[in-house]
Amino acid sequence: MSATLCQRHPVKLAVAAGLILAALGGTLEGADAPSPVPEPPVIDPGPIGGPPSDAVVLFDGKDLSQFRGERSAEPQWRIESGAMETTPQGGLFSKQEFGDCQLHIEWAAPAVVRGEGQGRGNSGVYLMGRYEIQVLDSYGNKTYPDGQCGAFYGHNPPLVNACRRPGEWQAYDIIFHAPRKLADGTVKAGSFTVLHNGVLIQDQSSVGGEPTTAAPLRGIADKGPLFLQDHGNPVRFRNIWVRPL
Ligand code: MG
Repeated sequence: MSATLCQRHPVKLAVAAGLILAALGGTLEGADAPSPVPEPPVIDPGPIGGPPSDAVVLFDGKDLSQFRGERSAEPQWRIESGAMETTPQGGLFSKQEFGDCQLHIEWAAPAVVRGEGQGRGNSGVYLMGRYEIQVLDSYGNKTYPDGQCGAFYGHNPPLVNACRRPGEWQAYDIIFHAPRKLADGTVKAGSFTVLHNGVLIQDQSSVGGEPTTAAPLRGIADKGPLFLQDHGNPVRFRNIWVRPL
C-alpha cells in the first residue's frame, strides 16, 4: 500500500481494515469486546519456587501434620531448620490423595558422601504411591540409567543428569497425568514431565499401568497419596506443594 494512498484515505482504510479483521473472526488489539472464552482465575504465584495461592501446601518447614507414617499413624521423620529428614522408620504418605497434578518438592542428599550407586542419597517421590521419580545423589555417582536421579524408576532415564553437589538443595517440578482404565478394560497411559533444577529431564514420559518395583501401592486408581521413600539414607525435603489439575 503506497504512502500516498494512506494519506488520501486514512479513515476509509481504517474502516476497511476493521471490517476485514471482523470478517476473519479477529478483534482489533485493545478492543474490549466480550469473548466466548472464559477468563482464567487470577492467582498469586508467590515467591520463586512457590507456593502459589491455589496450591495445597504439604510441608512448609513447620510440621508433618499433612502426612502419616508408612508403618505408623504418626510420621517418624525429623524436622530441623525448616526441612524434614528421612529416618529408618519408613516412608511418609500424604493424608490427602491426588491424581493429575503439578508437584513442587525440594530435596538434598547428605553433604558427607557415604555409599555408592543406589546406596548414596537414595529416596524417592512416588506419585499416587505408585510411580517413582528417583531421588539419588547422582553427582559423580554411576548407577543404571533408569535408576539414577530423576529417572522414572525402572522405566525411563532422565534426558540429562542435572544433579547438584551433595548437600545442595535441588528442586523437582513434576507434572503428572495418571494412567486410566477405559471402559473396554484397557489402560490409557498417563505421563511424567519433570524439571530438575529448572532443566527438563522427563518430557511427557509414558506412565503405563505398571507401578515402580516395590511401590507401596499398586493398581490403577483415580487418586492416591504422595509417598516419600525411606531407603535407609538420610535425605532432607522442604517446600512441598501440589496443585491438582
Ligand atoms: Mg528411590
